[in-house]
Amino acid sequence: AEMFGQLTSGLETAWNKLKGEEVLTKENIAEPMRDIRRALLEADVSLPVARRFVQSVSEQAVGVGLIRGVKPDQQLVKIVRDELVKLMGGEVSELVFAKSGPTVILLAGLQGVGKTTVCAKLAFYLKKQGKSCMLVAADVYRPAAIDQLVILGEQVKVPVYTAGTDTKPSDIAKQGLQEAKMKNTDVVIVDTAGRLQIDKAMMDELKEVKRAVNPTEVLLVVDAMTGQEAAGLVTAFNLEIGITGAILTKLDGDSRGGAALSVREVSGKPIKLVGRGERMEDLEPFYPDRMAGRILG
Ligand code: GDP
Repeated sequence: AEMFGQLTSGLETAWNKLKGEEVLTKENIAEPMRDIRRALLEADVSLPVARRFVQSVSEQAVGVGLIRGVKPDQQLVKIVRDELVKLMGGEVSELVFAKSGPTVILLAGLQGVGKTTVCAKLAFYLKKQGKSCMLVAADVYRPAAIDQLVILGEQVKVPVYTAGTDTKPSDIAKQGLQEAKMKNTDVVIVDTAGRLQIDKAMMDELKEVKRAVNPTEVLLVVDAMTGQEAAGLVTAFNLEIGITGAILTKLDGDSRGGAALSVREVSGKPIKLVGRGERMEDLEPFYPDRMAGRILG
């Protein structure tokens, strides 16, 4: 399925109703605004976010007046595009690196969202930028997760620090960081345990790992297929442990767009990177303007 295809065609319905109009007015935008709202809700954007979005777009639309050579439907497309970019945070939000010593990136996320894959993808991505990386296997509840990380590490040729399943995750992370310091490694990426849903044990463990290694980035990995629920998770993790941003995976699936559109607005935290496939090279920065362009087709 075409990514955001439904959202794209839903929005088109709105512009199409303005064909033949001379200027945008309160009256002739009423129906297109309902179309935009419906398109956002169908893309799984939450009602308050969709409402604020439409409110802002309609205020701007009735204010633009007559512009020579630009048809009202094109004017509306431009306003919606700019508002979409704003909704997604405006500028690209770059990863931050420590001023000295290894940069620690702590990855958190629920089970199955693609967190382990992201660890290796991120190492591959940073290696291409000339940074040396190390992965740390601190998911001690599933031995298979450690094995998987080791295999992925071999694939991207990045060392993986493991200490089995009997050591505390915070100690594993500390030992991994120690080793990275000895080897002058630029970036340490710590894989933590996921659960099927949020629970206190997971949050406590994340807090402990965070205290142990003082990460520069704490990134929550969320699945784009879960729509506005992803934005809720980012909010919850941020309130509980304090995070610096999100990584949105599975954008190559038939995600409706709600997650990409809502995370920043709902949680106040940026999406820093997106996963667009299962291959190691399928990770890239999140560019709000390009995303808006894709949504508008
Ligand atoms: P974890 O439980 O969060 O560690 O999830 P995994 O990293 O094991 O990934 C779960 C499944 O999702 C695997 O089959 C991955 O290949 C797949 N996956 C991860 N990221 C992406 C992505 O961006 N796109 C697609 N299509 N699949 C992904």
